[in-house]
Amino acid sequence: MSEAILSPTPAGVDKDQSLVNKVMENAQSAFQLYKRIPAEGRALFLETIGKEIEKIREELVATAGQETNLPPARLNGEINRTIGQAGLFAALLREGSWVEAAIDTEDPNRVPAKPDTRKMLMPVGPVVVFGASNFPFAFSTAGGDTVSALASGSSVVVKGHSAHAKTSELVFGAIEKAIEAAGMPPYTVQHLLGSGRSVGTALVVHPHTRGVGFTGSFAGGKALWEAAQKRETPIPVFAEMSSINPVVFFPDTLEKNGAALAKSYAGSITLGMGQFCTNPGVLLAIQSPALDSFLSLLSTEITAIEPAKMLHKGIHEAYCNGLNHMLAQKGLQVVGQATKAPGGMEAQPVVASVSAADFLANPHFTEEVFGPFSLCVVCEDKQQLAEVLKSFKGQLTTTIMATPEDVKTNTDIIELQQTLAGRIILNNVPTGVEVNASMVHGGPWPATTDGRFTSVGSSAIKRWVRPICFQNFLDEMLPVELKRGNPKGIWRVVNNVTTKEG
Ligand code: NAP
Repeated sequence: MSEAILSPTPAGVDKDQSLVNKVMENAQSAFQLYKRIPAEGRALFLETIGKEIEKIREELVATAGQETNLPPARLNGEINRTIGQAGLFAALLREGSWVEAAIDTEDPNRVPAKPDTRKMLMPVGPVVVFGASNFPFAFSTAGGDTVSALASGSSVVVKGHSAHAKTSELVFGAIEKAIEAAGMPPYTVQHLLGSGRSVGTALVVHPHTRGVGFTGSFAGGKALWEAAQKRETPIPVFAEMSSINPVVFFPDTLEKNGAALAKSYAGSITLGMGQFCTNPGVLLAIQSPALDSFLSLLSTEITAIEPAKMLHKGIHEAYCNGLNHMLAQKGLQVVGQATKAPGGMEAQPVVASVSAADFLANPHFTEEVFGPFSLCVVCEDKQQLAEVLKSFKGQLTTTIMATPEDVKTNTDIIELQQTLAGRIILNNVPTGVEVNASMVHGGPWPATTDGRFTSVGSSAIKRWVRPICFQNFLDEMLPVELKRGNPKGIWRVVNNVTTKEG
């Protein structure tokens, strides 16, 4: 049996440290057994987690609703996504080619003799996952970080988010049932609550921890990343931290589609009260009467939107402070704001504008205001638009709103956008992230700590593995994926040819 070890109140560093030591010893023992479970066993385990979550769906929605202020429709959708993610990794395990097996057979006649070398991806070991406040299911206890790490063959320790502690405990209860039902080793997944600065940091710096998944603030992600780099043995921290997701509105589309663009972007800016990492926080365009008209329409849309409660007190305070600080910057003008005054914990949607000259003179304009806020940067010409794009730090997404005519005349700007982000979108809103094999939810610093990886989609498993090469191994010593004859029937690169042949 696995057990929930809870530290509901920060009770001193020593107590937290001994708790973390015990948990990480358990995680290490579990890893030694769990990594030997065949792919089919791990796939069944992931599906069982989904089934156990489904059994308590109503209780989960009610509890998460109380803790996060998110409506039932959103929470149900997120549960579907969470179960779907577990299924995606189960399918990946069954198909099996994700291990990137590569084989170069021996050639004793070559001088010097060429050895037999066989490579595949293998799990790194215990992974620590920080639950995200803005996704109580899909990026929390049984979310994408957890199921991708479990799929890899790593054991997992979840540091639940205090803003939805009860939801996190309930989901962990479902995972415990799945561990038992699927016959997985005890402590394959463990769950802790407590302060990030004490419990969270102690988990990250523990010698048994081999990788960390995080979604949250830049300050939190960077602090954990730094702690991991200062260890005697540094480890990767895959933190998704901060992104303002620049959207470029090109002239022809503003001319032809202004009203539709205003409607869809008012919806995207305020979706989930702006509490999405892909929220369009900055809009760019070249000055024109069509832009003036678009901003006026956007203002009309925004004023009609009702303020709603944010996820938790901390995020609400951060939004109010961030918004007030932003509105106080030189050159900023409010374009539109929700007419209805916000009540306690409610966020007021706001769209503002600034000239590109003022934007370029003040780096504060590139800071994230996490919530329903977006800033339109008005450029004098295409050259200034390029300058503004060059001033951005790394992003999760950047979007091109363009007609075919715009695309033809702006290839240079579009190429520039590709240097910025992990996902480049044409004629859509950035909010809404598909969970599939081709998704990239990542980007250059500070969007994430390592832009070579994604935290959404099946490639997320690559964060928890490393390649191992077996040289001259006997067949009986090799993992099944690398054996002669290819008993798993997976795609492998054999002597530089991709094949399912032995
Ligand atoms: P957070 O404050 O970064 O917290 C996330 C997790 O990290 C929590 O478990 C927290 O522990 C821990 N943590 C925070 N600071 C830490 C530190 N210095 N050392 C060790 N652990 C630390 O994020 P949040 O509570 O979700 O929201 C706060 C702000 O984060 C928001 O206002 C927003 O600006 C940003 N945010 C961004 C995204 C995004 O996708 N870009 C998503 C969510 C939030 P505790 O439980 O002790 O706090």
